Amino acid sequence: MFSLYTEDEPNHKIGFSSYKTIFYKNFNLRRKVPVKDTCNLCDSFNAKIKNFQHDVVLREEQELQHKQHLLKAQEARESMKHDMEEAKTNNKLETATYDIEKVLGLPKLPTNIVYYKRQLSIYNEGVHTSSNDTPYCFVWKEGTAGRGAQEVGSCLKKFVDMYLTPETEELILWSDSCGGQNRNIKIVLLLKAILEAHPLLKTIYLKYLIPGHSFLPNDTDFGEIERSIKYQIHNLVFLASSSKGTPERLSQLSVDEQPEAASSSAKRSRGMINIFNDEKVVAALDKSKVSNRDAVHLAAAIVQSLRIDLETVTLNMSSVRLARQKVRDARAIKIKTYFKTMELKALVLHSDGKLMEDVNKREKFTHSSGKWKY
Ligand SMILES: [Zn+2]
Repeated sequence: MFSLYTEDEPNHKIGFSSYKTIFYKNFNLRRKVPVKDTCNLCDSFNAKIKNFQHDVVLREEQELQHKQHLLKAQEARESMKHDMEEAKTNNKLETATYDIEKVLGLPKLPTNIVYYKRQLSIYNEGVHTSSNDTPYCFVWKEGTAGRGAQEVGSCLKKFVDMYLTPETEELILWSDSCGGQNRNIKIVLLLKAILEAHPLLKTIYLKYLIPGHSFLPNDTDFGEIERSIKYQIHNLVFLASSSKGTPERLSQLSVDEQPEAASSSAKRSRGMINIFNDEKVVAALDKSKVSNRDAVHLAAAIVQSLRIDLETVTLNMSSVRLARQKVRDARAIKIKTYFKTMELKALVLHSDGKLMEDVNKREKFTHSSGKWKY
């Protein structure tokens, strides 16, 4: 930092100690060496170099190999940077980096008992696009699916289906070299299927960073999510807002989506949930006199606010009408059966008078002990 300052400001000469004092006193900033996973190859080279202190030939050989390894890592990083920059100017090219976040255990509670309980594991596959510098989160829980190549592939397929700009002809995907999740035949076959199904996409490049040196833009997104969860969040839904996100950029994967993407079928998942088939929902709609059209608007807003993918919910007027009719018919049959099985000798109807007066205008209701009696 100090050398950068002296380069930028050659006219303002200042000593390192004065610079350090100003930095610590006048700014609310501190510095420390970042704690991160170290590369096992680098660690091994460092250990060997240390051991060969007295053997110059062997030490230099190790140093050379280490240098070549670092150079390779640097080249890969620069190539990724170049692809990311190019995606910003070329609208037919998209560069996306993808990675799976470390397992998040929910709920996050300060109560000590949480340390003795097993938390629910939440998985998040992050995809970061370079053209608009945007992170996308694909979230699911442990009961839905695992976190292998098929799940990573499902997320990539969903990303291409939902978020890839339609004019894209070339897609470059960068990831780390994790064999179980990213660098395997399943991902290659799935991308081949995506390529065949997509109307405009012509090429997909799969590129990998050197193991141990794979810092992706996704890591920054994950850092933000984890920081937000640590300090304030108690609910999975807030994952979106914690990652500079909007609801549109957070997708929850459902059980049905996993086999769909894994088998590379083009079958759509539209309309899997019909919330209007619920008797309670229909009763509430009837009670508040909501029309079918308004019911669709209301449901769409509620579904969106719950961060549920709209494509997985049936939302149209005819399905609302049919569902309401079905629930009403079922309710009518239930009431009729109930009355038929009862051996009634007398029937007392309790109601507010306003409604009952219209039922049969010829008969009169009499009031007895606070209730209307027929
Ligand atoms: Zn290394």
